[in-house]
Amino acid sequence: MAHSNLPDGLHLDTLAVRTAVERSQYGENSEALYLTSGYVQSSAASSAARFAMEEEGFTYSRVGNPTVSSMEMRLAALEGTEAAIATSSGMSAVLLLGMALLKAGDHVICSQSVFGSVIPMFSREFAKFGVETTFVPQTDLAAWKAAVRPTTKLLFAETPTNPLTEVCDIQALADIAHNAGAFLAVDNCFATPVLQRPVRMGADFIIHSGTKFLDGQGRVMAGAICCTQKQRDEVFLPVIRTAGMVLAPFNAWVLLKGMETLAIRVKAQSASTLAVAQWLETQPQVARVFYPGLASHAQHELAMRQQSGCGGAVLSFEVKAADADAARKNAFHVLDSMQVLSLCTNLGDTKTLAAHPASTSHGRLTEVQRQAAGIGQGLIRVAVGLEYLDDITADLARGLNTL
Ligand SMILES: *Cc1c(COP(=O)(O)O)cnc(C)c1O
Repeated sequence: MAHSNLPDGLHLDTLAVRTAVERSQYGENSEALYLTSGYVQSSAASSAARFAMEEEGFTYSRVGNPTVSSMEMRLAALEGTEAAIATSSGMSAVLLLGMALLKAGDHVICSQSVFGSVIPMFSREFAKFGVETTFVPQTDLAAWKAAVRPTTKLLFAETPTNPLTEVCDIQALADIAHNAGAFLAVDNCFATPVLQRPVRMGADFIIHSGTKFLDGQGRVMAGAICCTQKQRDEVFLPVIRTAGMVLAPFNAWVLLKGMETLAIRVKAQSASTLAVAQWLETQPQVARVFYPGLASHAQHELAMRQQSGCGGAVLSFEVKAADADAARKNAFHVLDSMQVLSLCTNLGDTKTLAAHPASTSHGRLTEVQRQAAGIGQGLIRVAVGLEYLDDITADLARGLNTL
C-alpha cells in the first residue's frame, strides 16, 4: 500500500502521528475512516489482477482496508519492523500466529507466566491439532534451553508479564530460539514500543493486544503481529484472509488516533506507577509489591536495561493475610472500598483499573497452573492511569487502612 511520503530517520514520536497511507484526493489532515466492506474496481482486468495479488489495491475488507493499513504501518514504524498485520483482538493475533506458523507435530516452548488466555490457547486449542507445548518458568533460561526439541518451531514469551511483571531476557531467548532453528515471538503489550523494541533484541514476531495501551482509552478490541513484509504477505495474510479474524476499520481508526498519544501516556502513566509502587511498599498491610521499576524486583537491572530505564504502567501487590481464604477476603475488601478507581480487568487505560487476577484473568486456570504462575488469592493488579497521583493512592488506602 502506498505510504505517505516521509523522510528517513524520523523519531518514534513523529512516526506515531505521521505514518499512514497516502491522503485521499480531499487532503484530509486527520486520517480518514474508510468504513467500507468492498471497493469499486476500475476494470475487470484490474479486479482480476488485484484478487491474484499481482496489482496493489483494495478488493474486500477481509483482505485489506486503507484505515487498517494505516494502523498497521504506524504500529510497524513504532516497533521498527517492516510490516504489521492487524487482528480483531490480541488473542486472535496469537491464534493467527499459531495457525500460520505451526502444523501437527510441531513443538512450542511458552513461558508459564503469559497472559491467562494464552495458556489454554496453546495447551488446549493448538493441542487439538497435534501441536505440543512445553511451559517453562519465565526467567529460567536453562529450562527454556532444556525444553528444546528437534521439532521446536516457536518460543513464546511476554515481558513484563501479566500480572506479576516478571521480566525475561529477550536477547537470550532469541539466541536459544535461533540456535534451535525456531522463531521467537514476544508479546509487547505491557512495555509497548515506547519502552521496548523486541526486534532490536532479536525477536522475530511482536504480538500486540491493541485493546490496551495502543487504544489507550479502553474503547475497542484489537490486536496485531509485527513482522517482515515477506512474512506478512506470504505467511500471515493468506491465513487471515481465509480465516477472517480481521480488525474492523473503525477499531483500526481508534488505534491509529490512540497511537498518536502513546508515548506521552506511557511515560506519564509509568511515572505515576513507580510512585504508587513506592508508596505501596511502605504500607503495613501490603506483603509484597511486584514492579520492575523497584530495586526489590527480581529482574530490576535487566528491566531497566531492556525497557529504557522504565518499569511500565502496571504493578501488582499482595495484601497480607494468614491463609488463601483470608487473602481473597482482604483483596476483595480493598477492591470493594475503591470510590475512584475502576474494578475492571482491562489495562492500559487513562482510567486507573484494579483487578483480582486469581478470580478473573487467571480464573480459568487449574489451581496447579495458577500456583505455577504464582497468582495468589491476595494479589491485586493495578493498571495506573492519568488521574492525579494522590487521588490514586488515597483510593487504595481506603481499603488497606480498614483491613
Ligand atoms: C489483554 C492481553 C492479551 C489479549 O488481548 P485481547 O485484546 O484481550 O484479546 C494478550 N497479552 C497480554 C499481555 C494482554 O494483556
